[in-house]
Amino acid sequence: MQRSADAPTLGSLGPSARAVVRTLLLAGPLSRAELARRLERSPASITKITQPLVADGLISEDTAPPGESRGRPGAPLVLDAALHLFLGVKVTADEVYAVRADASGRVEASAHRPLVDVGQATVVREIIELVNELTPAPGSIQALGVGLAGQMSRFDRTVRANAYLGWDRVPLAEILERATGIPTVLSEDARALTAGVQWSGPGRGMRDFAVLTVGVGVGLGVVIEDRVLAGPTGKVGRIGHTRVSDSGPLCSQGHRGCASAFLTTRSVTQGIGVPHGRSDVDLDAAIELADAGDEVALRVFDDAGHALGVLIAQLVNMLGLPAVILAGDGLGMLAHARTGMEAAIAEHLDPNATAPEVVAFTSGFDEWARGAAVVACQWMLVDPPRSDPDPA
Ligand SMILES: [Zn+2]
Repeated sequence: MQRSADAPTLGSLGPSARAVVRTLLLAGPLSRAELARRLERSPASITKITQPLVADGLISEDTAPPGESRGRPGAPLVLDAALHLFLGVKVTADEVYAVRADASGRVEASAHRPLVDVGQATVVREIIELVNELTPAPGSIQALGVGLAGQMSRFDRTVRANAYLGWDRVPLAEILERATGIPTVLSEDARALTAGVQWSGPGRGMRDFAVLTVGVGVGLGVVIEDRVLAGPTGKVGRIGHTRVSDSGPLCSQGHRGCASAFLTTRSVTQGIGVPHGRSDVDLDAAIELADAGDEVALRVFDDAGHALGVLIAQLVNMLGLPAVILAGDGLGMLAHARTGMEAAIAEHLDPNATAPEVVAFTSGFDEWARGAAVVACQWMLVDPPRSDPDPA
């Protein structure tokens, strides 16, 4: 079913109505009484807030059993998440991934395009192509979220310090809005992935957890008391260069024994390829070597597991997190890194800390794009752009 053309978008609702929608999205159907309790409002004010939402068809009363009249106070209110569509995009150094998802984060369609270079013109062109491809009708998309590496606040407009694209201070949201007419928000990619994991992924219902990603880099998203942390300047989660050993290889920044020196895909493949005199070892080939019992490969993966375990233990020591979710395209290493990881967690965990649940969340880049779509929806529900400026 499509949203009727005159039905309000989520971002056009007032703050109280947005709070109701947010609560229904996270909790599922709730009675007015339960909504009042959760939002700390009176039942009368909840009735007043939800009336226009029901009239506009944004929320409906769960079908009453036969014989019962509608409008009974205990009838749960349901939000039809499928009426609200968002696009999410993840930009890597060689490809752009995009999904169309509804307000609950359920993916309806996806597409991706290779990048021939990482210049602004190329990346913007490919994003616009994907937006056009995934937009079912003009005006049907409420917001576009773009996840990419860099230092960005929770809902940002400008790409800062993206080492993979070599971009700094690029006003990408404005450029895309001008070209597509769709409100656009940017988010640091590990944080966007974390938002998706929390909204409707393996973190749903968990109030405190971290998402630790391994791949081309080492990324971190942290959720404390239901909130994805960004920090005052968007710099939460810079743990990739944490020192985890007194010896070991050098990372791209020249640190000996930092997490990136052990964990990035490049570190792993070079660590295995170089001693074998091979330059063609990718992660799959590295895993195959380890599968076949290659000693170099087994040692490199064990060291990577150790680095991962130290990071996990430090996170848990500092923040008391009960769960750490592992993700990223480098996660295939876990088959040979798990033993080293578990040993390092046990070794580095504070004696009074509780061992965390460690969950491996295997997912492709579509999951990162889905997270960016969730960020776009959250933007509309938390801090939507104002269409008309406040009168002075
Ligand atoms: Zn480093």
